[in-house]
Amino acid sequence: MSESGEDKKYMSVYDTIDDSSPDENSIQQDNDEYMIRCENLVKIYKTDEVEVVALQGLDLDVKRGELMAIVGNSGSGKSTLLNMLGGLDKPSAGSLMIDGKNLLKFNDKDYMEYKRDTVGFVWQNNARNLVPYLSAVQNVELPMLLKGKKQRRKRALELLEKVGLSHRVNSRLDQMSGGEQQRVAIAIALANDPKLLLADEPTGSVDTKTSNIILDIFKDLNKNEGLTIVIVTHDIKLSKRIDRVVAIRDGRTSSEIVRKKSYAQELDEMGNIVESSEEEAEDTHEELVVLDRSGRLQLPKDYMEQLGIKGGDKVKVELDEETGKMFLFRSHE
Ligand code: ADP
Ligand code: MG
Repeated sequence: MSESGEDKKYMSVYDTIDDSSPDENSIQQDNDEYMIRCENLVKIYKTDEVEVVALQGLDLDVKRGELMAIVGNSGSGKSTLLNMLGGLDKPSAGSLMIDGKNLLKFNDKDYMEYKRDTVGFVWQNNARNLVPYLSAVQNVELPMLLKGKKQRRKRALELLEKVGLSHRVNSRLDQMSGGEQQRVAIAIALANDPKLLLADEPTGSVDTKTSNIILDIFKDLNKNEGLTIVIVTHDIKLSKRIDRVVAIRDGRTSSEIVRKKSYAQELDEMGNIVESSEEEAEDTHEELVVLDRSGRLQLPKDYMEQLGIKGGDKVKVELDEETGKMFLFRSHE
C-alpha cells in the first residue's frame, strides 16, 4: 500500500495512544499532586429581590498533604468557598476538582458519597457540630453509625484521645467549654477517615491558649497522618503559625502570604519554643499578590491609596528587562 504522509501520521498517533495518552498522564499527575483545583469559581446567591455574587471567579490550588489558611474580611466569601469545597452547596460556574473528582458534575448521590467518604467539616458554630443530648463519644460514633463502620466505640475513644479529651468522653455539649466542644467537633469530622479536613473559624470563640491547642491538633493530623487541611480564620496570631495563608477579597483570591522559612526550621534556629511577637512574625512572612490565570492582579488597597489611584483609573506599566522588575505609574497627570 502507499506510504503516504497521512498513513505515517496516523500510525504515530496510534502508537502513543497504545499505553496512555499524554493528556491522561498530565491529568493523572494533577490528581496525584493536588487535592483541590479551583478555577474561576463563581457563586451567586439568588433571593427574591437581589443577587449576591459571593465568589467572583476565585482561583485556588491546594496540594495533597498541605495545611493552609484562608483569611479575609467578613463577607468576603470565606464560608461560601468552604461550603463549595465541602460539597454543602453547588457552585454557579467555574471549575472545581477535588481528589480528582469534578464537583460541578456531581448529582445528589455523588454529593452524599463525597461528604460521607472524602471530606470532614468543622463548623464555626459549635451547636451545628454536636448533637446536644448525646455524650462526646456518642457524637463521634454517629457518623460511623451512618456509614455502617465496625468497632465504632474503640475508634471514637481513639479519636477523642487524639484531640486530648479522654477525660471528657461521657460529657454532653453543655458540660464542656467552647474549646472542648470544638475539639469534639474535630474528632467527629475525623470519624470517617476523610482525606480533606475543612474548618470554618474553628477558633472563633476561644482564647489564645485554646486556639493554639486546636492548631496543634491540626498540625499533628497534617504531619503525622498526611491529612490535607484548609482552615478559614480571622485570627491573625493563628495565621502567623501557618506556612501558607491565602487572602480573599470580594470573592476573589487577592494575595498570598508565604513563610520565608519553614516553621520547624525557625524553631530549630531559636533552639526552643518561644512565642513569637507580632514584629517577629512579620519578618518571617511575606505577602505576595496572586495573579489569576489570565495574568490579572489585584493591587493592595493601601498601595493604591498611597499612589492616589482607584479602580477604573489607567496606569502605565513598564518592564526593566535588566533587573527583571515591573513598574507601575500613575498616568493621569
Ligand atoms: P465570610 O464567611 O467571608 O464572612 P460569606 O461567604 O458568609 O462571607 O458571605 C459572602 C457574601 O455572600 C456576603 O455578602 C453574604 O451576605 C452573602 N451570602 C452568604 N450566604 C448567603 C446565602 N445563603 N444567601 C444569600 N447571600 C448569602
Ligand atoms: Mg464566614
